Amino acid sequence: MSPAGPRSRALLERAAAVIPGGVSSPVRAFRAVGGDPFFVAEASGAYVTDVDGRRYVDYVQSWGASILGHAHADVVAAVQAAAGRGTTFGAPTEGEVRLAEAVVAAVPGCDMVRLVSSGTEAAMTAVRVARGATGRHRVVTFAGCYHGHSDALLAAGGSGVATLGLSGSAGVPPSAVADTIVAPYNVVPALDERVACVLVEPVAANMGLVPPAPGFLEGLRRACDEAGALLVFDEVITGFRLGRGGAASRFGVRPDLWCFGKVVGGGLPLAAVGGREDLMEQLAPVGPVYQAGTLSGNPLATAAGLAVLERLDDALYAGIERRVAELADGLRSLAAAAGVPLQVPVEGTLLGVFFGERAVADYDGAKAAAALGRYPAYFSAMAAGGVSLAPSPYEILFVSAAHGDDEVAATLEAAEQALAGLPSVREVGAAG
Ligand SMILES: *Cc1c(COP(=O)(O)O)cnc(C)c1O
Repeated sequence: MSPAGPRSRALLERAAAVIPGGVSSPVRAFRAVGGDPFFVAEASGAYVTDVDGRRYVDYVQSWGASILGHAHADVVAAVQAAAGRGTTFGAPTEGEVRLAEAVVAAVPGCDMVRLVSSGTEAAMTAVRVARGATGRHRVVTFAGCYHGHSDALLAAGGSGVATLGLSGSAGVPPSAVADTIVAPYNVVPALDERVACVLVEPVAANMGLVPPAPGFLEGLRRACDEAGALLVFDEVITGFRLGRGGAASRFGVRPDLWCFGKVVGGGLPLAAVGGREDLMEQLAPVGPVYQAGTLSGNPLATAAGLAVLERLDDALYAGIERRVAELADGLRSLAAAAGVPLQVPVEGTLLGVFFGERAVADYDGAKAAAALGRYPAYFSAMAAGGVSLAPSPYEILFVSAAHGDDEVAATLEAAEQALAGLPSVREVGAAG
């Protein structure tokens, strides 16, 4: 069953004539869950309303960009006020300084940041800085992690083994990924003096939620130090979501470079690459590593980011963690009652679900869970029950500060119905 009503379907038909697949980013097309996407008319707090007037409790929240919930009044006011002063100048503004100061103050060890417009640019720039600073070429990434869609980072991993130079997309030539090694997540890879950097999501959140195994991040830090390689945390999801200091503070492991995005932009196109001063000063105009952007540090985006960062305190994170725990507990007991094997990993404010018997520690595990094929039916049933989940089994749930008791109760009510409609473990076993 598709969540798309008649107006959404009409818009999709128009869109598909002028936009490939009718969408500006592929996962929005709902191909992974079947059916067609709804088109959004407006959103407020925990809710999103589509053009057919259907209202959902929203766990997409712009893929985690909206931690305060949609259209928070203070953020809207900040953006409106900034727009009145001009939307872009091609010259520096105080807003950039203030946002950079806020990030540096929140993240110990992150001395400087360069503002960019997307997480893709942040990761691409971090790799360029690492290569420039070390004079080395190789980049180690992990299967199932996502670092945006720059050529060198669209590399494919093998099954459970480190692989070198396999393209992850048509249009990415072997030469572009010749120096990209993809290793299994949660295993510290062997590094040598050819490695410029290890790039990792410190909590993997683009293959469902896969927290780091005990010792994994510490092991990466040690291996990098021994090999003279740099450690880069891609905190585009975890930054300012797992607390103000992100994953680096939560796990007490300090990388050399960071990528920020999503929350830091307050729902506008803004991201950042940050790190140690000596590394960040490799960037032009101080150093030899080139990087630039017409709309970088955009005044609307810095205003939105600042308005959000000002509101992120311990109480806010504790509140989201409490909702996440309530949802996780509820989902686990509903699944047990329905006889549906379900894993509900939690890391602080982050929440995921995997259908299956076993906890997931890497991409092979995530793929095995997705291959059971239960997610599309669950997704559709949740949509029918008024809950908007990510249209892919490889995404997590984003709980915002606007999700309260009513939203948790409505979600668990929908989940009870959705899980009851799925084949129980006994039926699946009987079917082979
Ligand atoms: C979303 C994401 C990116 C890419 O950010 P865009 O703004 O979509 O380019 C990079 N890394 C991680 C971990 C992400 O979740």
